Amino acid sequence: MSKKVFFCRFSQESNSFNPVLTDYSMFDVVTEPSDVLTENGKAGITVNGIYKTLNDAGYQLIPGIFMGAGSGACIKSQVVEDFIQMTIEQVKAIDGLDAICFSLHGATMSDTSDDVCGDVIESVRNAVGQSVIISVAFDLHANVTEKTMKNADYICGYQHYPHIDLYETGVRAAQMIIDHFEKGRAFVARAEVPVIAPAHAYTTSSRELKKLMDKAKAYKESGKIIEYSIFQAQPWLDAKQIFATIIITSYDKQTAIDVANELSIDEFNLRKDLQGEPLMSVEEVIQKALENTSGKPVVLCDSADSPNAGANGDSATVLEKVLPYRTQLKCALAVVDKKATDLAYELGVGGVGDFTIGATIAPELSKPVLVKNAKVKVLSDGEFFMYGPQERGQKRSNGKSALISADGILIHLSYNAKTIGDRGFYRSVGVEPEQMDLVCVKACTSFRAGYSQITDLIYNAQTTGAAGTDLTTLPFKKLPNPLYPFQEISIEDIKKAKIYR
Ligand SMILES: [Zn+2]
Repeated sequence: MSKKVFFCRFSQESNSFNPVLTDYSMFDVVTEPSDVLTENGKAGITVNGIYKTLNDAGYQLIPGIFMGAGSGACIKSQVVEDFIQMTIEQVKAIDGLDAICFSLHGATMSDTSDDVCGDVIESVRNAVGQSVIISVAFDLHANVTEKTMKNADYICGYQHYPHIDLYETGVRAAQMIIDHFEKGRAFVARAEVPVIAPAHAYTTSSRELKKLMDKAKAYKESGKIIEYSIFQAQPWLDAKQIFATIIITSYDKQTAIDVANELSIDEFNLRKDLQGEPLMSVEEVIQKALENTSGKPVVLCDSADSPNAGANGDSATVLEKVLPYRTQLKCALAVVDKKATDLAYELGVGGVGDFTIGATIAPELSKPVLVKNAKVKVLSDGEFFMYGPQERGQKRSNGKSALISADGILIHLSYNAKTIGDRGFYRSVGVEPEQMDLVCVKACTSFRAGYSQITDLIYNAQTTGAAGTDLTTLPFKKLPNPLYPFQEISIEDIKKAKIYR
């Protein structure tokens, strides 16, 4: 008889400095089995990889609840509690359950817990007992705690950032279950390095982190280990426990431990490199735009206020600095501001008024800016098609939106900003980024795929926001000590590799 595997998803990346809690309205929830039990189901790309792999191997798949939200504030605890309770009811109702495969994010907090994913896994473990195999697919930015390790048998994280391997990670997590039943238990070692780094500052495609990933990959290809995940925790989690973790799986216990320890020293050694280069000031980027004669736009990356990193998109810091140049520069920028959007609607297209813009969601992270004599150019329902290349043609919405102008400064106002880094965002209100002297983009890394098609003049600027790039300036309250870059650390601060199950 084929083995029974339950699978489900709970995915959200939390940012402790975003004050608006994430509730049900921000989640997409898929509960219809017919939406999931298919290769291209709606429940998420990682889930599709899990389904395909186990289904092809002849396993009987039992779907649970699949819910995912974009990056944002910590989740209302009731949402987490409901998911846990419903999942427990579902797994308890299955006769002869053999395994569970979770698709989780791993950097998820609620208003009552620093470790939502650890809570989910532990609660479900307690419900099903010790013999059911639990395998977890995580984001590369997961904060993988001891609670998770004590309750999950196998862990697989994305190995690429930008994340291009969502499907493959689902395949790997599912394959761990298949391998377990066909080849026996493998040992999973985890080492902990007290390092966090701003997510804009590194990728797995370059510098020291690429070397570390390549080294782990070579160990896997040689057959010495069967799995590796190197997690750089999402850094905007104000949690009592947060760290980079190296997780190595091998059929040989000592090998798993030795490789995890070795790579944890590499992770320790790249801690400075992970923090990236010092950023330019907003004034310096504006100066670049003023002096630019290339015909290409200068792009200012305001990653500290990137909604993709869980920030609010409501900061007017760049607007304040660029406003004095309103008659000298053609500049496009965006601020999430419901009140200002409503004012634009009241005035109507062609109307002129004084707008107070910004700092409406997180007033402690930036301040509002008064823009006098601004003219309403466009009113929009906020819907647009992604220009791409990523997700080209997909429909997105930023809610009720308006474009106003203060001479050459074009300000996109909207109710929210789920997708702000795509060129289609500005095009939807008639602004061609190519024609601007300066374009401000509130995004971290992925926007480069689109914007690099029109310019190479892209600069990360030192701005403020919930996804602030200088971590030491953010209002953390709970972090452990020592933790780099807040304190210098030594090799003795690495927590040696351990096998938990
Ligand atoms: Zn991530």
